Amino acid sequence: MFIYIMGRPHSGSTILDIVLGNSSAVESVGELVSGLGRETTGDTCACGATIVDCPYWQAVRTAFAAAAPFAWEVARDRSVRHAHVRNLPRTLGARGSAADLRFLGEASSCFARAIATVAGKPHVLDSSKEPTRGIMLLRFCPDARVIHLVRDPRRAVASHYWRFYAYGGYFKFLRRKYHARSMLVPFMFVAAASWTLGNLICELGRRFAPARVVRVRYEDLCAQPAAELRRIGQALDVPLDDLIDKLERGEPMPIGHNIGGNEIRSDGRVAFRPEKGKAHDLPRWLELLTFAACWPLMLAYGYRLRPLEQPVSRPEPG
Ligand SMILES: [Zn+2]
Repeated sequence: MFIYIMGRPHSGSTILDIVLGNSSAVESVGELVSGLGRETTGDTCACGATIVDCPYWQAVRTAFAAAAPFAWEVARDRSVRHAHVRNLPRTLGARGSAADLRFLGEASSCFARAIATVAGKPHVLDSSKEPTRGIMLLRFCPDARVIHLVRDPRRAVASHYWRFYAYGGYFKFLRRKYHARSMLVPFMFVAAASWTLGNLICELGRRFAPARVVRVRYEDLCAQPAAELRRIGQALDVPLDDLIDKLERGEPMPIGHNIGGNEIRSDGRVAFRPEKGKAHDLPRWLELLTFAACWPLMLAYGYRLRPLEQPVSRPEPG
């Protein structure tokens, strides 16, 4: 089975990806699409080798070539290109017989089978997050299941805000990186508004196959990890009991051959300790701006419109 995490940036997908990948039933590879897009640019796998030289990914390419009816490079390049939001209207509106989208669905199954063969696990997790890809999977890959991961938009915006100062006016949007110290307010407004728009697109996608989508709030995962993982396991029909045992023992979790995601993927191993997680400062004006752009969906997801608790870190001017 192909399991996909769909949602907005800074929603905790990298840690959920690593945690689920420590189950004996699920192999996680990080953000498969953005990772594959960096295969040709000499980027590294979480193991430290370049993606091209990593023995794990070499074995995946070999397994793919042995079973797939098309070339790895064609499947890779078309999958990377498609995940961009400019392909959303086509992905939503195409007929079920659309050859290009059926190809992408089949390519995803072939990626999953090749990774599962090498990992010796039945299920494969891709945490690329892009809703366009999630909708393609729901429409054109019958084997796929989707986790729609949601986080309080104020935490996501606070993460953007912290990065803005830490990296000199930094903002990333639609795969582009910007550096403009004078653009704080517009950048933060875009971050907040795109939380609403992106999650609405995810909700639209869910309507194609509601039984194959499970919505997870990152805050619930942090508050009750075992109960939430049990619910995810039941929704996806994937046994996660061994993972829950590991989590309850507080065992560090090794990070496998992860090829995309945030900086923690290169830490080697992580322990899931939500109470020690990063929480960045969010000034009051930015919290109000986020409310203004996000309140209807925040209420729908059960987030209360009251001030956030004290942060544990502050942004450093960079
Ligand atoms: Zn590797």
